[in-house]
Amino acid sequence: MSSYPITSKDFNTPCYFYDMELLVRTLDAIKAETAEYDNYHVHYAIKANANPKVLSCIAAAGLGADCVSGGEIEAALRTGFPASEIVFAGVGKADWEIQLALEKGIGMFNVESIEELEVINEMARKLQKRARVSFRINPDVGAHTHEHITTGKAENKFGIDKEDMVKVIRMAETMPLIDFTGLHFHIGSQLLVMDDFEALCIRINELQDELDSEGIYAPNINVGGGLGIDYEQPDTHPVPNFKAYFDTFKQGLQLRQGQQVHFELGRAIVAQMGTLLTRVLYVKHGKQKQFVIVDAGFTDLIRPALYGALHAIQNYTAEKELPTLKSSDNSCSENSSKRATAVTYDVVGPICESSDVFAKDLSLPETRRGDLIAIRSAGAYGETMSSQYNCRPLPQAHTTDE
Ligand SMILES: *Cc1c(COP(=O)(O)O)cnc(C)c1O
Repeated sequence: MSSYPITSKDFNTPCYFYDMELLVRTLDAIKAETAEYDNYHVHYAIKANANPKVLSCIAAAGLGADCVSGGEIEAALRTGFPASEIVFAGVGKADWEIQLALEKGIGMFNVESIEELEVINEMARKLQKRARVSFRINPDVGAHTHEHITTGKAENKFGIDKEDMVKVIRMAETMPLIDFTGLHFHIGSQLLVMDDFEALCIRINELQDELDSEGIYAPNINVGGGLGIDYEQPDTHPVPNFKAYFDTFKQGLQLRQGQQVHFELGRAIVAQMGTLLTRVLYVKHGKQKQFVIVDAGFTDLIRPALYGALHAIQNYTAEKELPTLKSSDNSCSENSSKRATAVTYDVVGPICESSDVFAKDLSLPETRRGDLIAIRSAGAYGETMSSQYNCRPLPQAHTTDE
């Protein structure tokens, strides 16, 4: 199993543990795969993980930032992402957020409705600032992922109907302080089949043909994010297949002269470097099931409860003991009597909701109170989505370079 770099430090659990070496390796892979393109720009989607150390590492690698709130814009600027490399999406941008973005001179707004365009125009006029505006077009392409994380279908709340694309661009052209900068798309998250991105490319090409016939040029094409990761086998695929991803757009997009392509990757950059560490409070022998009750709950990692997401789960304490037991060496500590190698458990948290379950019918080595459990691939949409429900403290985060 894994040789995940957990130090011997005695962390208070539950806590997040971030492998900075893997994060750097992931960022290096992105750099290597985009080196041949001088018109590719990768923005990190801050909502996936806004831990200050993680953000600093990503900013140092030269990525831009994809923000969906004023707070994220502030975090990006605080970290040192250049304002010009910040893109700002979101269906419900508040006035203060628009004002902040205008005052800081961000790279572009990804505008999601005519109503929003009108408000940005009005605020730009008041502040006498120029606003660079791309339109988020709903491409109406499906994505093979969980229904809660598809965003590019006509029935989703995101973006502008593709039938209205020319109309909104024409409208923007009449607004003196609005600069039309291009088109933006984002079809969903945790996408593993390149067909979804190919379908997006085909749709973008159709829309570009329509722009051509209207004599409109879009300097920037932003294809959003969504590249998925291997939740089942984090140690086999610690770094996502960025080559296949970027190649798909290279082959699929028919770019016009000078067009810049933007990517907004979140999960693919940070998911695998994060582990949620938790300790076993009780092993409860129910009538039909055995429950491993851990000290982490959905307040610390909500993905299983929210999306039915599966994370690989390991018992680090038992894994450390098992090799010794196999070689029938009795030198290991006296109180570690022999463990059964495989017992079926439900792994659950302490929160007063039936959805507070991390795994059902999972096979683990015999598990005991006090064992350290690792919930893997928790670097994306983990810490950022934590809450204080049940008056629980927020989980702490540690990094390998501490
Ligand atoms: C969430 C989001 C992303 C990042 O999605 P991932 O699946 O984490 O890559 C990119 N763009 C927009 C507009 C988003 O809302």
